[in-house]
Formats: sequence, structure tokens, C-alpha cells
Amino acid sequence: MENEDWLIEAVAEKLGIEQDKVRDLIKKKLSEFQNLTESAALRMVATENGVVPIRRNYKIVDITDEIGHINITATIKRKFPPREIMIKGKKSKVVNIVLQDQSGSINVVIWDANKVEYIEKEASEGDTISIANAYSRKNKLNEKYELNLGSGCAIKVTKNAMSEKPAANRREYQRISDVKDDSKIYQIRCFVVRLFTNNIFIIRCGICKKKVIDKCPEHGDAAISKTLFISGILDDGLSTIRASFFDKTAEKLLSLSRAESIENKVTDISFGLYEVEIFGVPNKFNENISLNVKDVKPVDYTI
Ligand SMILES: [Zn+2]
Repeated sequence: MENEDWLIEAVAEKLGIEQDKVRDLIKKKLSEFQNLTESAALRMVATENGVVPIRRNYKIVDITDEIGHINITATIKRKFPPREIMIKGKKSKVVNIVLQDQSGSINVVIWDANKVEYIEKEASEGDTISIANAYSRKNKLNEKYELNLGSGCAIKVTKNAMSEKPAANRREYQRISDVKDDSKIYQIRCFVVRLFTNNIFIIRCGICKKKVIDKCPEHGDAAISKTLFISGILDDGLSTIRASFFDKTAEKLLSLSRAESIENKVTDISFGLYEVEIFGVPNKFNENISLNVKDVKPVDYTI
């Protein structure tokens, strides 16, 4: 059953029985009705015993499977312009937003025309959105779960006084998918979703300038220099790109975290909780484009 242990728990608690006994009730339902899925049988058992089979208040971190009937309240961290797609030969509008709560962030796809219009008009980055009856699907491209809002769900946006910014002050950011193999500087707003924890220093011999492991075979360790080098993955809610941070820029990235040691900072930032604004130059290696980050700043939500 798709991640529905919480519902089994809720029924067990309500009836004051063991969870295994609830599983027996589900089996009984399955034997009574043909073509019933286990999930539907559980919902029947729950409803008959006065337990509402819709989970209230999901946290983003809980969405680790394809689940229906998701209720969630979170902050709109990013709102993208709507785009037109073809569904069954008909032009339709969809809009993507990125939600964040204390547990993480998730991409949301809104399909229903009325809701697309509502989001376009009413929602700003920084607002709170409450969603009822959404479902999650795994995005086959990036293997991540995303929330889908079709016609069967309800949404409500609550304005946050801090989130309305004057149009003139709003900066236009580029998207990760815009990055091409050129020498432009890209300004992108994104989350740091992963940092690689091995090899965070480049060690060189200052005399021959060669990369070494701890000392130079020719010149010993007299002129060894250590440069901070951090590699990671950036995600703007629609796509991801690998990025490298060197020296001062790497130090700036690590200063986002209040952890004590460099290793703890790297681990902390790897959780994907930090939204940043980066300035980066593309770098092509083996057909893959990555970004060489020249500057990084935390996103300032109050401007
Ligand atoms: Zn050397």
C-alpha cells in the first residue's frame, strides 16, 4: 500500500486494537469484494470506523511515494510563468510552482485551467498556499516526487505582507534549462540540493603548480597550497545542473550554514534547504555543461 501506515495506525488507535488486527480487517474486506485494491479496502475499513481517510497536514518530507488525497500548507518559494502544452490534442495551460516548508521543497504542477488562472492572478512568491486533495507522481526525468493539482483539488492562497514586491524591484532570473555552452554570466535563483563531500580541497605544489595528493614527488611539501573546491547540484524547481564553487566563492557558500566545521557545513547545505542566487559561467566537459560559480548569495526574501 502506498505509504498508508499512518491510516492503519489511525484505525488501530481509534478501535484500540493492534495494527495487525487492522490488517486482518483489510484482508476480510478484500475477500468480500472482488477487484478491490488493498488501498481501497483500507479506506473502507477506515470510513466505516469513523476515521477520515484523508491525511491532514502532510509535510513535504512525507511525500516519498505516489500518494492520493494530499492536504498540505506551505510557502510558495517560486512561481513560474504558465506554459502551454498539448493534452490529448488540445492546448492547455499548466503552471509550475515550488513549495517549501520546514522539511524541504517540492515542485508542484497545476493542470486545471481555473486554478492556473487563480495562481497567475493571486499568488506571489512568499505567499502561503493551502492545498486539499492533491496527488503525488514521480517525475520520470529527475526521479523526484512532485505534487499534481487537477480539477479535483482545492487551493487557497493567503497573502503574506512581505511577499508583494514592487514590479520594478523584481529581478528576472534565468532558468537552469536556459544555460548554454557560451561565455555569458547566468544569474539563477535555485536551491542547493546536494554537495559532494569528498575532495573539498585542491592541493597543489606552489613550485610546479601540479595537483598533488599531500606532497609533490619533486618538491616535497614546502610549497603546498590548499584551495577550497566544492562541487554540488543546483535545482531551480524545473531542472538541475552541476556546479563548482572555488576558493572565496566556496567559502561564501559554506557561510550559509552556521555549523561549526567545514564538513558539517557541507553536510548541512546538502539537505536542499538553502535557496541561493548564483552568478555562474558555463563550463563544458565530456558533453555535460556545468556552472562555474563566480558569486553566490542567500536569497533575500524581504527586498
Ligand atoms: Zn612540485
